[in-house]
Amino acid sequence: MASIYLDERSVSREEVLARAARGARLLHEAGVREGDAVALLLRNDFAFFEAMQATAALGAYAVPINWHGKPDEVLYVIGDAQPKVLIAHADLLATVRQELPADLAVFVVPTPPELLERFGLPLAAGRPAPGERAWQAAADACAPWDGPAVKLRSSMIYTSGTTGRPKGVQREPATAEQVAANAALLRQVWGVEPGMRALIAGPMYHASPNSYARQVLPAAERIVLQSRFDAEDTLATIARHGITHAVMVPTMFVRILKLPEAVRRKYDVSSLRWVVHTGAPCPREVKQALMDWWGPVVYETYGGTEVGTATLSTPQDWLAHPGSVGRPVPGARIAIYGDDGVPVADGVPGEIFVKVDAHPDFTYLHDDDKRRAAERDGLISVGDVGYLQDGLLYICDRRSDMVISAGVNIYPAEVEAALAQCPGVQDCAVFGIPDDEFGEVLAAAIELLPHSDATEAELRGYLAEKLAKYKIPRKFDFYERLPREESGKIFKRKLRAPYWEAAG
Ligand code: ATP
Repeated sequence: MASIYLDERSVSREEVLARAARGARLLHEAGVREGDAVALLLRNDFAFFEAMQATAALGAYAVPINWHGKPDEVLYVIGDAQPKVLIAHADLLATVRQELPADLAVFVVPTPPELLERFGLPLAAGRPAPGERAWQAAADACAPWDGPAVKLRSSMIYTSGTTGRPKGVQREPATAEQVAANAALLRQVWGVEPGMRALIAGPMYHASPNSYARQVLPAAERIVLQSRFDAEDTLATIARHGITHAVMVPTMFVRILKLPEAVRRKYDVSSLRWVVHTGAPCPREVKQALMDWWGPVVYETYGGTEVGTATLSTPQDWLAHPGSVGRPVPGARIAIYGDDGVPVADGVPGEIFVKVDAHPDFTYLHDDDKRRAAERDGLISVGDVGYLQDGLLYICDRRSDMVISAGVNIYPAEVEAALAQCPGVQDCAVFGIPDDEFGEVLAAAIELLPHSDATEAELRGYLAEKLAKYKIPRKFDFYERLPREESGKIFKRKLRAPYWEAAG
């Protein structure tokens, strides 16, 4: 029987699907209709699948929220997406409960004790507050949903806050045929096949693990969830469950490779057949070392929340052309444009534009202009610079300021806006600097107000109230005067350059 596993617990796929069908009726009773949003503030857990499926059955958007966020950040997404319902783990709900809109219907998922333990939280944090409705119990009290077929909507994920706060990437509703075409493509890219044993190591609020979870659910014999990435636990899970397929980001590879040889040897990883990585550049030596150990099972995709998966690099492709992110997937168009807006020749770097036919079109919620600005000749840019050579795509750099730390996108503008509010700060610039483990980490260059004696510790303390931990710069450099371009803009490139030159 196909099952989903989380630590010592498991649940059958049938149970998840049955609860999702009842949950759909529950959501309908709570007022959710086609095109509405349902917010999910959930760690990786069975309820995530139930909530996504229930939402999909009504043709509503699931809006998975990054639970690493501070209350301000979580509430911003809720305010922006205007969901009809919030489904949340009890411990996460506790951080925003007081501030939620009065008309928002809330269902609580008790946080499993082992998750609480892993996050260092007391047992009581996992229980619903008096009067709150538990998702599972309330759903189980309903009859299964048998409403009419609807157009399907995938998750609406918040990303792309290049100019401040993140924006919801709202995909167009899709017919059953479109959904089938997109699913067929993703299954091909991720090697989805009956009997697979899939590991989901990253948080399901991210685009890739989220979409991976949707696609493997119907096929996998086993899906194993990790609630938080831990390198040795990942190896132990692969060995224990005979994992065949997984989706990861390069930082996970780096951490696994850093384990002492004796620890690495303890676990049999010979079941692995199709490990996909995406989301950030993977250093060549890291991927080579992993394939030397795991064998030719490491696949790579390139894409983005907006455009979907645009390329696939098989292990054979990569070993023959190390450094490339692969070939366009079937139905993908990729074009490279120069600064003059004209397509460039093979081998010449420029801005990458992509369109994947099977991937539903999108808008940025409340920001059509941003969507229009990203488009050229029907293709979309996610802000990367690269080139095509012999049909393979190579990524060189990013056009936008975005920093990718451990596969997670961070928009400096958001951090700069928070820093600018700190007492004593006159001006600041935030940018990425190289890091062996995380790929990049954030650095902040600060100019204080005259006579201010604000310290790094004070600024950190202030930011910790406002921003998720991963957005707090690792490094603070104080300047009497920040270097500026003639236009008056801070000269970020000058600030970044020494770090990148030092790293070679
Ligand atoms: P996820 O939210 O799961 O990380 P994702 O990485 O597919 O999904 P985004 O978070 O939108 O999507 O990040 C897209 C950006 O990630 C791209 O614009 C690119 O800069 C970077 N990226 C994705 N894949 C690769 C890759 N294989 N090599 C280098 N950079 C990549």
